[in-house]
Amino acid sequence: MTEHDPHILQGFATRAIHAGQEFDPTTGAVTPPVYLTSTFVQRSIGDLRGGYEYARGGNPTRDALQTQLASLESGARAFSFASGLAAEDALLRAVLRPGDHVLMGNDVYGGTHRLVRRIFGPWQVELTTVELGDLAVAREALERLRPRVLWLETPSNPLMKVTDITALAELAHAVGALVVVDNTFATPYLQQPLVLGADVVVHSTTKYLGGHSDVLGGAVVTNDLELAEQVQFHQFAAGAVSGPMDAWLTSRGIKTLAVRMERHSANAQAIAEALQGHPAVTRVYYPGLPEHPDHALAARQMRLFGGMLSLELAGGDAAARAFAESLRVFQLAESLGGVESLVNYPSEMTHASVRGTELEVSDAIVRLSVGIEDAADLVADVEQGLAAL
Ligand SMILES: *Cc1c(COP(=O)(O)O)cnc(C)c1O
Repeated sequence: MTEHDPHILQGFATRAIHAGQEFDPTTGAVTPPVYLTSTFVQRSIGDLRGGYEYARGGNPTRDALQTQLASLESGARAFSFASGLAAEDALLRAVLRPGDHVLMGNDVYGGTHRLVRRIFGPWQVELTTVELGDLAVAREALERLRPRVLWLETPSNPLMKVTDITALAELAHAVGALVVVDNTFATPYLQQPLVLGADVVVHSTTKYLGGHSDVLGGAVVTNDLELAEQVQFHQFAAGAVSGPMDAWLTSRGIKTLAVRMERHSANAQAIAEALQGHPAVTRVYYPGLPEHPDHALAARQMRLFGGMLSLELAGGDAAARAFAESLRVFQLAESLGGVESLVNYPSEMTHASVRGTELEVSDAIVRLSVGIEDAADLVADVEQGLAAL
């Protein structure tokens, strides 16, 4: 099996393992090698082997990851970057010009908001955030602002709001906006934004795609070949590429994405159900709960409900801090999407950069990245944390 084209005919888990991951033709090594090289020997001047010249422009290990990413997101082209924000930056620089407007949900990842506000702002890019869960609000803002980019993130962080990609893409396309979906939380296993009508998907592969909290990375995936050329040029000319070891680790992580997401989702559902109705908890934010306001939409748009959930503590700020610090299996750390469970106190950790903005998060909220340990151990851990309050 050397030809895996067209991967589109194969199932997700098969593509996760095989797309771009052909065995090494010289040795038969099952796992593609890590090409730790910065440059490539030419046969004669300009006669390149496999098109490889200098590793900022292309490296076989990065190409293998990019092929894998494009296949999983049902995209034509994918580009891998040194981090999620590097990917977002390259995409936005390829698309935006002074005077353009970006419209986002009012609960996007804080780093994305900071990137547009503080890096693109001084270049005369305008930013507006609105409640995109309300389609009438979204339509009004799109028609009034005529943004170049509509930026969606669903489920959102940390309140797990789910927005309707298909409906918003239709509204955005009617005013000529490019629709970008940050698919970091859902992953392509749970949600396929390009199939649902988005133009571009971005990822922090640092999270579920890498999946083991051992590597940073980001990606841009699209079916728009003209835009792909521009992103590729920015990747090459500005240079925020992923290194070969990082690309290899990410590819390795992706091979188990399907089984991990099944387990993350099952464990998160078990914890959400255990927290629901607990006297120390005023609210559980998990789209897998029938009580979640976007449950029906999530069930339609996503294969499963994912591994992220948040809870609001009845005891407010003090209880939230105490709970976050009392867990034993869940480690107190930023980030998410790894095999190990993590607990985060957004208002002082991941969301500290958006304090004082419209994205500010209540100090009674704790966010859990539910790992793939035994569900019983995770449930026991949150229960002992709540009992100690
Ligand atoms: C972490 C994250 C990012 C940024 O990615 P980095 O790899 O940290 O640069 C972007 N979007 C979401 C939803 C994230 O969770």
